[in-house]
Amino acid sequence: MAGHTRRDFLKTTGAGALAVGLGAPAQPPTASGAAPTAAQGPGAGTDPQSGAGQGRPPTGNLGTVVWRGDPDYEATRRRMVWNARVPDRFPAAIVTVSSDQDVVEAVKLARARGLQISVRSGGHNWVGSSLRDGGLTVDLSRLTNVTVDPAARVAAAQPAIRNTELMAALGAQGLAFPSGHCPTVAIGGYLLAGGEGWNQGSWGPACQSVLAIDLVNADGELITADAQHYPDLYWMARGVGAGFPGIITRYHLRVYPAPKVLGLSIYVYPLDQLETIVPWLKSTVGSLAPSVEMMSLMSQPPPSVRGQLADPSARYFNLWPVAFGDSPEENAAALAPFESAPGLDRALVRQFNASVSWSDLFAIEAAAFPEPARYDVEVAWSNADPLAVLSDLRTRLARAPSPDTQILAAITPPPTVDPTAREMAYSLAAPLYVTSYCIWKDAADDAVNMAWQRETARALEQFAVGHYIGETDLTASPTRAAESFAPGVWERLQAVRQKYDPQGVFFGHVGQA
Ligand SMILES: Cc1cc2nc3c(=O)[nH]c(=O)nc-3n(C[C@H](O)[C@H](O)[C@H](O)COP(=O)(O)OP(=O)(O)OC[C@H]3O[C@@H](n4cnc5c(N)ncnc54)[C@H](O)[C@@H]3O)c2cc1C
Repeated sequence: MAGHTRRDFLKTTGAGALAVGLGAPAQPPTASGAAPTAAQGPGAGTDPQSGAGQGRPPTGNLGTVVWRGDPDYEATRRRMVWNARVPDRFPAAIVTVSSDQDVVEAVKLARARGLQISVRSGGHNWVGSSLRDGGLTVDLSRLTNVTVDPAARVAAAQPAIRNTELMAALGAQGLAFPSGHCPTVAIGGYLLAGGEGWNQGSWGPACQSVLAIDLVNADGELITADAQHYPDLYWMARGVGAGFPGIITRYHLRVYPAPKVLGLSIYVYPLDQLETIVPWLKSTVGSLAPSVEMMSLMSQPPPSVRGQLADPSARYFNLWPVAFGDSPEENAAALAPFESAPGLDRALVRQFNASVSWSDLFAIEAAAFPEPARYDVEVAWSNADPLAVLSDLRTRLARAPSPDTQILAAITPPPTVDPTAREMAYSLAAPLYVTSYCIWKDAADDAVNMAWQRETARALEQFAVGHYIGETDLTASPTRAAESFAPGVWERLQAVRQKYDPQGVFFGHVGQA
């Protein structure tokens, strides 16, 4: 993890020679590049920066380069985004790389062609921020390796590894990490955003456990940044979200002894019980063990308990506290407060401290976020009274056009975030994290669902002290990214960008001023 560049190494491995090929004069255009389809959007094939217009450069070992106008362009473009609501933004080309050296060559290709670079790891950013008009999208989806050093309790993971894959590799060594909650999210964008992960009460936001990053910078050099080397890049990588001036090819992570037993309780309350349960939750979270994580959703119930409900398609207040302990007894004690909650007799489902696996936890989350589906998402950090926020959202939810639309709320003690952002750009959080997930299936229903979501997001704004960069709708306003950081942090982020990428080789955050 030395902080020096690796240019010399690349020269000796022949990657430099490949770069000559990529920068070589354009080859004759292919027939497939000449005729854009409507699906490929206006201007396809006539873009002066597109491979179709200039001819396709040799790709050598770089991997798959798909240019706008190619027959497989639209399918490749859509594959970049997990959300079925793929934005109308059209890169000039998409390159799927297979190694660090490929990433170096991709940066050189972009520079030679005057294409700005956007990056894609797992494609789970809700607004599809890896798709940018006229740029080169570098798709890292093949970079999924991880190596674990159990003695040192560190792991080195490539950016497109998914939560389940990372946890399986660590679990085999008795280790774990505050991975994201959903199985298929990749760590690339998740860690950059801060990472609201499992067992956060004990392990903190995931970016806090990033010890170093390997990245390819705007000059096409592979470097390592940590607290001693390129400390400002390291600082930025821990919370900036999108808009990082480099491509991270590997995260060096601190990992933790895995909890020996995971205890899951599930309570399903009618929505008219918010007035009873939410004030109690607010007053109780401060006294819960840090090993307890509590998630709540105003939504359809989790599939595993639907059979217990007379109307399984209705929305309820679903509460699922999880205890990350070392024995069923420890978990039982940690989860015990939920068994004396007021209104427990009105809970329609009451499951206490079932011993579950990580796979079970991921399965619950996967069911809550179905795919494929069309999503429009907004999130707020809030200091407001949770009941005021949730009762307002309950009323709105009753008018939501789609039955799949839901509201997530995490009520926590005041988070220990450093608003001076001394060590990490991640600098904004509040005791209520509330997200409106507008979810529907059919593109014909876009307008009505998005209108509902716009109105709900506006209402959420009155309660917000800021947004989480990993989930907020960056396209909602040109200052939305800035509003995801403590005061002054956005300006510092721009200064670091300017220092390492003065020519704007990499795109900034989508839609931002
Ligand atoms: C179903 C679902 C569940 C989620 N659950 C959680 C959760 O539990 N906790 C949480 O915190 N968030 C969660 N998120 C949000 C998620 O963490 C972010 O959207 C994150 O950006 C996804 O990472 P990705 O690599 O898949 O995204 P991508 O769309 O691939 O990347 C997003 C952006 O990050 C940047 N980026 C990604 N990788 C790199 C890299 N290697 N180098 C440089 N820049 C890069 C790029 O600017 C890119 O455009 C969830 C999202 C979904 C869709």
